[in-house]
Amino acid sequence: MLQLGRFTPMELEALGRERNFLRDQSEWRCPACGEVSVRTYLRNTRHADRPAMIGYTWCAACRRVAGSTGPLPPGLVISDRWRELDPEAWEEFDRTLPRLLARLDRLWEKGVLPQSIGWKRP
Ligand SMILES: [Zn+2]
Repeated sequence: MLQLGRFTPMELEALGRERNFLRDQSEWRCPACGEVSVRTYLRNTRHADRPAMIGYTWCAACRRVAGSTGPLPPGLVISDRWRELDPEAWEEFDRTLPRLLARLDRLWEKGVLPQSIGWKRP
């Protein structure tokens, strides 16, 4: 298995400039290796009893990854078909990053990912 690496701050900045995942969930060009293989998975969670989200962005080609957590933007609706299709695996949430990314890639290949993202009117 390929080793996982981290996106550098500069690569993340380039990605953030070009890509708006909330608007376009398709694969994106990787600032590190140039392949159109950057994928993102968002997961609803709670932090300090407030709605929050965890995000993983990774490149399926060069295995660089970045994780993030933050408050859930008000009105953002993340459809998470993984949770509906396989609640047990979703609940378990793979403990290690290599396993998690391998699973997310399988879900992507099966068409469960990418997710669809929407906004609820206030
Ligand atoms: Zn890459």
